[in-house]
Amino acid sequence: MKKIIGNFKMNQTPSQTKDYLINFLPRVDATKNEIILCFPATSLTTAKFLVEGRGVKLGGQNICDEEINHNMGEVNGVMIREAGAEYVVVGHSERRSKYKENTRTNNRKIKIALKNRLKVILCVGENLAERNTLKMLDSLKNQIEESLKGIYENELQHITIAYEPIWAIGTGKLPTNKELENAVKAIRKVICDDFSEKAGQSIDVVYGGSLDAKNIGQYLKLDTIDGFFVGGSCLDPAGFAQIIKLI
Ligand code: PEP
Repeated sequence: MKKIIGNFKMNQTPSQTKDYLINFLPRVDATKNEIILCFPATSLTTAKFLVEGRGVKLGGQNICDEEINHNMGEVNGVMIREAGAEYVVVGHSERRSKYKENTRTNNRKIKIALKNRLKVILCVGENLAERNTLKMLDSLKNQIEESLKGIYENELQHITIAYEPIWAIGTGKLPTNKELENAVKAIRKVICDDFSEKAGQSIDVVYGGSLDAKNIGQYLKLDTIDGFFVGGSCLDPAGFAQIIKLI
């Protein structure tokens, strides 16, 4: 069973979410793959009632890195969980670049998410400069180690690592199978070294970046990948269902 994560970013009002799900849900089989839809916080409650009993899961796109209430505009773990989220995304590159979030922020968010019984999708990935200067593996290691500082091995079962090379997000550029395999191997090695061999082999690692129905096929044979993180191509319900059918 693969994990397929749809990342809607700042798309879908509550009424658009309703229309989306009415179209999408009959097209997918959530017993074959684990389907997780990460809607904006304002759409989660609408989505929660529509996905009930359908096996499709929901994720939030953000969680505040502090537990105090004086955090204007933020959402906390209790809020998104009650609104329907089982997962929350942490460390997406847009949060890192636009909102200056870093691995320390990720670390606090992960701890708060787990405390609130939310599963975490931790995004990591190198930028183009790191890729071009062969610093990719160091960058991945640093992002993972800093983000997971103080996390216990038994908590890793609630964490999925999304490998999202920044240069591949929304650009139409993709890593080759070899590059992807090497990155996933490096990610697992960090977990093996810092936790245990078993943890490194069993942690879920998914790939995200410019996936669509035409290109996803090239990665389906890679058994080191546990699933896919889809941005732009999840916005069309029929198109996303088509991608899911291929997996
Ligand atoms: C993303 O934003 O995380 C992403 C994977 O987007 P896209 O699929 O559009 O590259």
